[in-house]
Amino acid sequence: MKPELLAALRAAVGPTQVLTEGDLSAYELDWRRRWRGRAGAVVRPGSTAEVAAVVRACAAAGTAIVPQGGNTGLVGGGIPDPSGSQVLLSLGRMNRIRGVDTANLTLVAEAGCVLQSVQQAAAERGLLFPLSLAAEGSCTLGGNLSTNAGGTQVLRFGNARELCLGLEVVTAEGEVWDGLSGLRKDNTGYDLRDLFIGAEGTLGILTAATLKLFPAPRARVTALAASPTLARCVELLGLAQARLGAGLTAFEVMGRFALELVERHFPALPRPLAPAPWAVLLEFSASDDEDSARAAFEALLAEALDKGLIDDAALAASLAQGQAMWQLRESIPLAQAAEGVNIKHDIALPVSAVAAFVEATDAALTAQYPGARIVNFGHLGDGNLHYNLQVPEGGDGERFLDENEPAVNRIVFDAVVARGGSISAEHGIGALKRDELAARKSPVALALMRRIKRALDPQGLMNPGRVL
Ligand code: FAD
Ligand code: ZN
Repeated sequence: MKPELLAALRAAVGPTQVLTEGDLSAYELDWRRRWRGRAGAVVRPGSTAEVAAVVRACAAAGTAIVPQGGNTGLVGGGIPDPSGSQVLLSLGRMNRIRGVDTANLTLVAEAGCVLQSVQQAAAERGLLFPLSLAAEGSCTLGGNLSTNAGGTQVLRFGNARELCLGLEVVTAEGEVWDGLSGLRKDNTGYDLRDLFIGAEGTLGILTAATLKLFPAPRARVTALAASPTLARCVELLGLAQARLGAGLTAFEVMGRFALELVERHFPALPRPLAPAPWAVLLEFSASDDEDSARAAFEALLAEALDKGLIDDAALAASLAQGQAMWQLRESIPLAQAAEGVNIKHDIALPVSAVAAFVEATDAALTAQYPGARIVNFGHLGDGNLHYNLQVPEGGDGERFLDENEPAVNRIVFDAVVARGGSISAEHGIGALKRDELAARKSPVALALMRRIKRALDPQGLMNPGRVL
């Protein structure tokens, strides 16, 4: 990295916030430990003006910028390349809640705010910011919006895009676009906000956002149900939507092997139900009192038992019991990491196509890779599965990956695309799926995306090599 650029960066953010030596692995190694890069400098701005100054300095030097929030991304999107020539822009110090408008039901927060702190700021005012995912204790708002994160409440509240009313962005030229409007209606031209959301840092740097809040539900009840087949789980989803309406806030499915992994690596977690082919986690949020919410939920579960959609069910008797059920679900990615090397897929399908997809793809993979173990769980209510493959037990995991990952992906993605699905429902493209995107997205869509990229980032310095 040129000394003049380092000097300009130090002048922009202060010398102590430009890191060039020591252990930088917190920034250079990803959560899955699959990508390790080397940053020319890690730069930690504390304000929007400082971000703009950093971007201008990098633009003048022709130096690429990789933005990073909590570094929990799963597709290698926030890790610099190994050249040592890129600036890693860490937004973590930009963590202020700028304000809450309780009448407008909006909150303005900086991009480096940890998701949990945004949820807490809303809760302190008796309100709800519904975006929720297992990484919420360390992922940041900027990362959530840049990946258009999903999580467990999408069924009722939508993904990060639908929860964002406005953005503040530093453009690739180092200008500040203040689009923090808290308006629910604004039809004045192209929607710039929606261009930056989900762009994975390739079009500009998000520095703050205006978020939608909701009244907090008065009652929240959780249940776990055991089901013999995935097709019946899909039928249960339809029944739950019919009976509980918009009160159905989560519908998560977990395959038997996914929960076996949790049991193996987190033996202290309580298991309310005996192992079954499928477990479904349902959450019902209501604006009326707890007793009527429980009664509605109990009636649904009784009807589902009666219809043979489930074999067993447990309704959480307390908030703590409900949280323990959620902990089972949220421990699956951690249990998978503890078990060792795996291939992750984060796919979306029409809900009506999910069961047939799983049956056919399970069969194709186990025939091709004897001993491979399928870890299947996810947001069935959104047609989004984390359909992962844990390498055969006892073998050389890294070697299995080197030899087979592209072919495994081909089997899975061909089956997804054949059924009208998507190769990424929530984690994004990053470095991991860039070639798959190029191979599978329509040429017209790709050409439009490339033109947008060139128009907004003519020098190609915003997170190069990601997405496109
Ligand atoms: P990072 O990893 O730091 O960055 C992610 C991407 O956004 C990178 O491309 C980066 O360059 C870009 N970026 C970050 N900040 C900015 C910014 N301010 N401006 C421009 N670009 C930026 N994801 C889901 O959608 N649903 C889930 O249920 C879910 N569960 C998860 C569970 C676990 C245990 C883990 C580890 C991850 C999970 N994820 C999930 C993935 C991840 O947490 C989300 O993608 C999260 O939104 C990333 O936030 P982050 O701050 O860590 O972003
Ligand atoms: Zn998910």
